[in-house]
Amino acid sequence: MSPDLQRLITLQQLESTIADAKAAVMLHPQRLAALDARLDEAKQALDSAKDLLKKNHDARRDLEKDVAVYQGRLTKFKDQLSSVKTNREYQAMQHEIATAQSDLGSVEEKVLERMVEADELTAVAKRTEAALSSQSKEIEAERKTLTGDLVSIETSLARATDARVALVKDMEPRLVALFEQVARVRKGVAICGATRDGLCSLCHVRLRPSVFQQVRQNDAIIQCDSCQRVLYWVPPPAPVDPPVVHAS
Ligand SMILES: [Zn+2]
Repeated sequence: MSPDLQRLITLQQLESTIADAKAAVMLHPQRLAALDARLDEAKQALDSAKDLLKKNHDARRDLEKDVAVYQGRLTKFKDQLSSVKTNREYQAMQHEIATAQSDLGSVEEKVLERMVEADELTAVAKRTEAALSSQSKEIEAERKTLTGDLVSIETSLARATDARVALVKDMEPRLVALFEQVARVRKGVAICGATRDGLCSLCHVRLRPSVFQQVRQNDAIIQCDSCQRVLYWVPPPAPVDPPVVHAS
């Protein structure tokens, strides 16, 4: 292969490495933010589970105050019962007692409902807390991985950038200019292979037979008529000889 063609291929590899690395570096803050969002979500789930539990406790405390009020009322009525003088007063007092007892019963029932609900809410809060703890560990591990990845991406970016500078210094300026001009309009890819059946492997346009013939020589800078990318030829792998089987 001609050294110019080889350098263009190497330049393309370096450019692609640099572009991928830059894209990954750009994405890094977004990836960290996604981890933060996941952690926030788990924390919020715990906050709202605790909030429900607190509301349940408050409601139960209020109901228990009502229980005390109804119980006091009942005690008072029962005390008064001994001092009534007429049958009518007695019946009226019995009616008051029955009403207070029924009110007390329904409030006590509500207290029980809150207690059952509290058990469920406590279980939910515990599960949410466990989920938060395992999420925190997972997220911390992912954060470390991301940070490690970023270091290696930045290292490979720096290496590829240095290598590119060195390579470009060795190249003819018109070749670098050609590369950059095509790369600019072709999403960063300025050189590609020709397929075995004579197509440009990226724009898939069929090469003229004489062009294909030239490309297969790999000794000149030949551009695809359609996409302008520089073309090269990767010879098909040599057929592998079938393994020799020795008769035993
Ligand atoms: Zn093409």
